[in-house]
Amino acid sequence: MEWLGLQMLVDLPANGQIILECQYNPYLVVLAFLVAGAGSFATLSMAERLNHVEQPVAQRQWRLLGACCLAGGVWALHFISMLAFQAPIELHYDFALTGLSLIVMLFAGWLAMNTLGRSDLRVRHFLQAATCIGLGIAAMHYIGMSAMRSNAEQFYRPDMFAASIAVAIITSLLALLLARYFRYGSGTLHLLLKYAASLLMAGGMFATHFTGMAGMTLIIPNDAVVVLPGADNNLQLGLTIAFITLLVSASSISAALSDQKLQSKEHDLRRVNVLLSQLDQARVSLQQAAHYDALTNLINRRGFNQVFAERLVEQSSNEGMLAVMFLDIDHFKRINDSLGHDAGDELLKVIAGYIKAATRSQDVVARFGGDEFCILTALSSREEARHLAQRIMQKMKEPIDLAGRRMVMTTSIGISVFPDDGRSCDELLKNADLALYQSKGCGRNSLNFFNSSLKTRATLELQLEEELRIALLEERGLRIHYQPIFDLHTGQVAKLEALVRWQHPQHGLLSPERFIGIAEANGLIADLDLWVLRHACEDLAQLNRHGYGRLKVTVNCSAVTLGRETLVREVEDALQRAGLSAGQLELEVTENALMGNIHSTIALLKGIRALGVSLSIDDFGTGYSSLAYLKRLPLDTLKIDRSFVQDVPHCRQDMEIVQAIIVMAHTLHLQVITEGVETMEQYQFLAQQGCDFVQGYLLSRPVPLGELRAILSQLDQRDESSLVSFNPYAGTDRSMSPDLFADSPDFRASASAARPGH
Ligand code: C2E
Ligand code: CA
Ligand code: CA
Repeated sequence: MEWLGLQMLVDLPANGQIILECQYNPYLVVLAFLVAGAGSFATLSMAERLNHVEQPVAQRQWRLLGACCLAGGVWALHFISMLAFQAPIELHYDFALTGLSLIVMLFAGWLAMNTLGRSDLRVRHFLQAATCIGLGIAAMHYIGMSAMRSNAEQFYRPDMFAASIAVAIITSLLALLLARYFRYGSGTLHLLLKYAASLLMAGGMFATHFTGMAGMTLIIPNDAVVVLPGADNNLQLGLTIAFITLLVSASSISAALSDQKLQSKEHDLRRVNVLLSQLDQARVSLQQAAHYDALTNLINRRGFNQVFAERLVEQSSNEGMLAVMFLDIDHFKRINDSLGHDAGDELLKVIAGYIKAATRSQDVVARFGGDEFCILTALSSREEARHLAQRIMQKMKEPIDLAGRRMVMTTSIGISVFPDDGRSCDELLKNADLALYQSKGCGRNSLNFFNSSLKTRATLELQLEEELRIALLEERGLRIHYQPIFDLHTGQVAKLEALVRWQHPQHGLLSPERFIGIAEANGLIADLDLWVLRHACEDLAQLNRHGYGRLKVTVNCSAVTLGRETLVREVEDALQRAGLSAGQLELEVTENALMGNIHSTIALLKGIRALGVSLSIDDFGTGYSSLAYLKRLPLDTLKIDRSFVQDVPHCRQDMEIVQAIIVMAHTLHLQVITEGVETMEQYQFLAQQGCDFVQGYLLSRPVPLGELRAILSQLDQRDESSLVSFNPYAGTDRSMSPDLFADSPDFRASASAARPGH
């Protein structure tokens, strides 16, 4: 068979001269091998890059470069080896066929790179590709051989011909596997392995070429003219080809290296970006935690201050208005104390939702802690702020189901407006707080705007606190007034309630409502209560000495005082010092103080009871006490709050409530006192209902000890018809300082209601 002038699979001709003295230039052979090695290394590098890029354009580029390197390497090995081939005849090469062999090899190279670019390479693919590439290499080799022009004919041994094709296919398979293996990885070991693999590949190519060459026999036909080789410029040509191939390989490798560097930089950049965005997220969640209230999801004080400062700058430049509203849930503490903190938290969440629902989306709603909320809103008139506050108060009236109870909460609101009431965040917040204080002072469930007189009041309060501290320390200025409690069964005064007053050097006689709150807020209340207790015991002991041994004194005890572990000892001490029997003392504790910490309170009350001191529950009906607890508490007396008798006999509902409380108290074996009795109708109604004691301006206002005896004797000798006219003291307590006292709504209500004959 003849193919492109090559005699394959045919026997050697009988006539003709076999050229035996064929040699190889060893330098060129080594050079061919090294060039093939460089080409292989470049090919492996291209295959590596191919697997690191994703864009199709870049992939095509690496595939093309890889194909060039592989083809260049194999072809250069072949061509330089051919230049190394030395025979005793003139040899030269056909340019067109040599070029064609390169093109065939390029095609095989392209096929190899395409195979490596596949992501789903299976064994089948490897085998198919290796066969195609191997055949391509073999084709390149034999086309290259056919380009060799001489007088001799080339004859090939069939076995060696087949072996050269097989070696080409095996080499291709090896190359594909190595290239696949080296697509990932880095470091020195990887590089060393890559060098070794490149040499292995070059060895394969080398083997293909020389197996083919080993099967070749050159025969000069008998009739041919033998032309001896001319001047040999093969070395020069070989070097040129090697140089070009090395140049191509080196440029490709350097391109691959710079791409690798670029990609690793990009990778680093991406990593940095990811880290930055993670950092950003962490910062956002930190900020979230730092600026948000976890319970209600509203912003907290810190978050609010930040937004407030920003809005303030905005409004300052726009010359706009801002309103700051402080909101405080009325009697929230009672819920917390009586229903527990979980219920309190639940309530706060509902309330936060109510406030959110009543405000606009651009308004800022914050929870400052506890039951304190703050709202910031931009507006164009003060009226807008009022409407917003009213909307909130209205929304608040929606009933809330909590711990199996349905309740309606109210809120007190204080408002300050920028720029009228202040220009800085601090000032506006402080003034809104003062306005809130005012709202709470006027019986709660109301809203108030800041006005400058509040500032004076706040300053005054601060001063009062200081002065009260000194008054307590030096026991100067504090007084006790006593209000008789009248026994409806015996028709005689049975008890005296000790009510504290403060004779202030400038403001005159101050009612407890002016300073009890201050004392409670500043840790002075327990000292105050104990002072009253000691002096009340001493005063009663003095009355005893004047023949009033049947009287009892009742002393008010705040929640804080009730929380003192030392209270039992202190009560005992006060009784001992005054020389008073325990049976003559009664402590009044409010419903809410009792419910606060019911378990420890029960133990303490039992301790006091064990002394022989009786206990009464004050302001009954205003708190959240439960009947179950009431049954367990060691009490003697229940005091119906003034608010239930106020509208008797006009309010049927109140009358029914009073009636029910009396029946209930008697069922629990408690005696009943009704306070705030101001009219005959109230007195008669209570007497009819079986109330045990009454206390109120109808009988007497609280009076100093010095005036008490006269009143007691009048009350004890009274007859019912003369009640109104005989009460000469009904108005005397107005001696309390008008300037401060006039602010108290309690005073205004009682002063008008308690006029004799009312
Ligand atoms: P409270 O314990 O409910 O005392 C009854 C209050 O009702 C007294 O006011 C008394 O003057 C007033 N009052 C009595 N009868 C009538 C009436 O017919 N009509 C009207 N409108 N009011 C009447 P006061 O003395 O101003 O005391 C106010 C509150 O201050 C007391 O209410 C009590 O909670 C507290 N308080 C007074 N003294 C002490 C004390 O020594 N310690 C403590 N912790 N609190 C005290
Ligand atoms: Ca009381
Ligand atoms: Ca009371």
